[in-house]
Amino acid sequence: MLPQTLLIDADDTLWENNVYFERSIADFISFLNHREYAPEQVRERLNEVERENIRKHGYGLASFAHALCSTFECLSLEPLTPELRETIHRFAHRIAEHPVEIIAGVSETLQHLQRRGHHLILMTKGAPVEQNSKVERSGLKDYFAAVEVVAEKNAAAYHSVADKYGLDYEVSWMIGNSPRSDVNPALEAGLNAVFVPHDMTWVLEHEEISAPRKNGQRLLQVQKFAELALHF
Ligand SMILES: [Mg+2]
Repeated sequence: MLPQTLLIDADDTLWENNVYFERSIADFISFLNHREYAPEQVRERLNEVERENIRKHGYGLASFAHALCSTFECLSLEPLTPELRETIHRFAHRIAEHPVEIIAGVSETLQHLQRRGHHLILMTKGAPVEQNSKVERSGLKDYFAAVEVVAEKNAAAYHSVADKYGLDYEVSWMIGNSPRSDVNPALEAGLNAVFVPHDMTWVLEHEEISAPRKNGQRLLQVQKFAELALHF
């Protein structure tokens, strides 16, 4: 195989991420302890608030903290006092204190891909300070020729990264766990894609996987990241 450019997602592809949000959400729901709404109903409300919130505030912990407070205000009969706001913010911001947990086989696989001469670019969405901090703490940065932190992963973002690095679409791939952010918009932009599913993928990233759109465009699915070594 000729050297390829591999754009690689980070959260829930290289390292664990959503599991910490799920824990914080579970703690928030217990803390709210709503008398009328079941935990699933509170969660559904939070999902709606987050969908709206992301449009205004983007991704990241500040946005998540804001969504938890808005959900509290929507559902609680108590007013959101400064003390309550502080407590709710802790549910969100303690996520940043968690060490980066690399998914099994990722380091060895990145080493293999680099040795095979592939051009690796880490491409993640979110708050730049938070995402860059995880890249630094992961110990994986040296495998990548570049790191791109974008506000949203849509077809326009993939075109813009492809333009920036002068990528040839036929030999460039997006690899990640999210149908909505990694696979579908990359295919829409004309890149190839690899879907690496993760059990804990955030519900807002779920979507039906699209089919390739043009002749020669490729879509692979692997069970785990380490299987990339069989394809590249
Ligand atoms: Mg991801």
